Amino acid sequence: MLHQLGSEVGTKSCVLLKFFSVVKAKADEETAAKAAARTTDKSSPTIFDKIVKKEIPATIVYEDEKVLAFRDINPQAPVHVVLIPKDRDGLTQLSKSDPRHKDILGHLLYSVKVIADQEGLTDGYRVVINDGPNGCQSVYHLHLHILGGRQLKWPPG
Ligand code: AMP
Repeated sequence: MLHQLGSEVGTKSCVLLKFFSVVKAKADEETAAKAAARTTDKSSPTIFDKIVKKEIPATIVYEDEKVLAFRDINPQAPVHVVLIPKDRDGLTQLSKSDPRHKDILGHLLYSVKVIADQEGLTDGYRVVINDGPNGCQSVYHLHLHILGGRQLKWPPG
């Protein structure tokens, strides 16, 4: 009886701990996004430029002359790939795009399909572009998140 009670309390504590760590992670992401929006000189190079130049390591999963895709350092799903244009060309975020970017935007979207096939995401996946502080964007170099490998929930938070 005591043993059963103990294990029940243990299970509930685990669920509560998990809940609070998710809440904390979400709060951290929002804080980071707000800080990035406030302090980032949007035209200065980002960590993604360093990845493009191979100055810092990343697990690259796809590359062609225009785009680069690598595994997210803080994955939110079994498959979490970040896809970027190699040349940012003013595309700090999607909302800064203009007509000259139509080709690269199309190229990025088609690359998502190629990468999803390569990653074996046959049951579906999600493509996310976070834009600005309300979108929780933390890196000001346009990027698409490709998430898959588990059942994703809707609506997002
Ligand atoms: P966002 O919050 O939409 O701006 O997404 C930025 C993403 O970049 C986050 O999911 C980070 O985990 C990811 N990230 C940041 N630095 C790196 C890195 N060095 N390698 C791989 N992913 C990174």
